[in-house]
Amino acid sequence: MRKTVWITGGSRGIGAAAVRAFVQDGWKVAFCYRSRTEQAEALAAETGALAIQADVTKREDVQKCMERIHEVLGPVGAVVCNAGVAQQKMFCDLTDDDWDYVMNGNLRSVFYTIQAALPDLVHDKDGAIVTVSSVWGVAGASCESHYAASKAGLIGLSKSLAHELGLSGIRVNCVAPGVIDTEMNAMHDADTLRGLAEETDLGRLGRVDEVARTIRYLCSEDATFVTGQILGVTGGFVI
Ligand code: NAP
Repeated sequence: MRKTVWITGGSRGIGAAAVRAFVQDGWKVAFCYRSRTEQAEALAAETGALAIQADVTKREDVQKCMERIHEVLGPVGAVVCNAGVAQQKMFCDLTDDDWDYVMNGNLRSVFYTIQAALPDLVHDKDGAIVTVSSVWGVAGASCESHYAASKAGLIGLSKSLAHELGLSGIRVNCVAPGVIDTEMNAMHDADTLRGLAEETDLGRLGRVDEVARTIRYLCSEDATFVTGQILGVTGGFVI
């Protein structure tokens, strides 16, 4: 497979760890981010990866991002749909804007990203797509129903595309992380995080590199017969 990967949401958290993991394994890496230019440029300088500002909820941005990747790195062989947003609110308080923010950030963005990258993969009749769902998309989550719904939607999308694209030589898999130590969990206080860690079989939160290496595995030559899978990276939080 062509070892060029496009990672969305690479400026920090799981995405930044994925940028490092793929670079370490000899991949050419492009990543996009929404607004943290300073962090993105520092990561690009550190790793040699190509950083592109693009809001993946906007089709035009996604298309331009793909064009830039083609100009600099050529066609892609793998796509990691990692960019996402979270929000905590009771269901009865959700507004239309809340719903759209989360659905667009987590689901529409993946629709646009995969559509933009697909011609490269179909042309090669080879390629890997990894989506980043969540344990909450598998198990449901109180006070994060729209987040859980968006992440459950990703699971349905990933399985459907595995069926639809398999004969084109394209594998589609999904990781469903548990609670990983990133800014996304900054809304939780220390007691809540301790409680979440205690609920896992391994008794701790996950690290970004642990998710990143799982994503890299799913794109790699070690996973050529793996498709349509939802791989939990949860430390046994939900099994
Ligand atoms: P994070 O630290 O909040 O980082 C989010 C990344 O996504 C940033 O690079 C951000 O760019 C980018 N991003 C967000 N919206 C974007 C947009 N519209 N366009 C382009 N880039 C966008 O998140 P994380 O914890 O690493 O999570 C990464 C993925 O894993 C998400 O899909 C999340 O739902 C999923 N996940 C996380 C956990 C967890 O416990 N952390 C658990 C399960 C699943 P900027 O830096 O420019 O804002």
